[in-house]
Amino acid sequence: MPAYYPHFHCKMDKCRHSCCSSWKIPVSRSEYLALINMECSDELYGRVQRAFEEPDLVTEECYRYICFNWLGQCPLQDRGLCNVHREKGEDFLPKICRLYPRSLKRINGYNVASCSGSCEAVLEYLYDHDEMSIIARELKEVPEMTYTIEEKEIGQIVLFQKIVQDRSTTLAQSIEAVCRIVNEKQFAEDLASLEDPIEAMIGLLKRFLHTNAQFEEIVAPIIERYTQEIELYQKDVQQFETDCPSWMSFFERVINNSMIYENFPFVDQRFDRTDSYKGLCVCYGMMRMICAGSYHFHPNTEHLIDALAALFHLIDHTAFYYNIHVLAEHPAIMLKL
Ligand code: SF4
Repeated sequence: MPAYYPHFHCKMDKCRHSCCSSWKIPVSRSEYLALINMECSDELYGRVQRAFEEPDLVTEECYRYICFNWLGQCPLQDRGLCNVHREKGEDFLPKICRLYPRSLKRINGYNVASCSGSCEAVLEYLYDHDEMSIIARELKEVPEMTYTIEEKEIGQIVLFQKIVQDRSTTLAQSIEAVCRIVNEKQFAEDLASLEDPIEAMIGLLKRFLHTNAQFEEIVAPIIERYTQEIELYQKDVQQFETDCPSWMSFFERVINNSMIYENFPFVDQRFDRTDSYKGLCVCYGMMRMICAGSYHFHPNTEHLIDALAALFHLIDHTAFYYNIHVLAEHPAIMLKL
């Protein structure tokens, strides 16, 4: 687990964009039955009765969704605190609510724990602490997801994290080194493309614009700005790099954190792993463009964190790597952004 993992704490009512808002949370059949049948106060009973909606496709694992109240928030929580948690304790929470932003996997003989950068508390920790070491600790929870990969591939996960952490090169060069190991031939062909990376990135951002409300709110003005005058991107990048001189080491920790969360390059079982370098290049490019643009509109750390949290909502909680493999024509050029 990353060294910060045991210290993670939810910000609760201090959170600017709580994960209890706007997220479609699936609840399994057993969790749903436990919640609607639990002994509790009349107040909580009323909330639970209004909290669920039936998905189009009902399965054991996705039996109900937690729906939103008129404020776009989970009807079980108020002022950042969950009433189920408060009254009945953590054990009664649906699995996703209990775990988020943590991820627990069992890979070969190892339990691997990580946290998603879609949570602002995780990003704030990474912003404030210049370290991303991996430590071994006892885990209270037992991972339910199990993966088996070749033993030599475990070594590759560790190697890639070390390469990304190498500060004798720029972050883009470190990512390039990783990508060349994953798929030298395709990466080199992509990188040789004459396509404009700024135009290509604007096109990609448009494709993902409606992923979530927060992402759209942050990215729409950025797309409009660079579509109207493409040269403004370089101007914004310069300003961002001048005002945030440690941007590269922060990006490094955030990308490394995401690689641990995704177990890069074993991110998505649906496509050839040698295509996984594409998502990594686009992740870097999106971070560059979204941070430069977002910083132009709101030059402060809070907005930077919010913009990245919205981006990692897209990267960590959708089939991002798979979609990039389908949609991005020359993803390697994003390292030029
Ligand atoms: S996004 Fe993170 S800090 Fe905010 S409520 Fe969720 S777990 Fe807590």
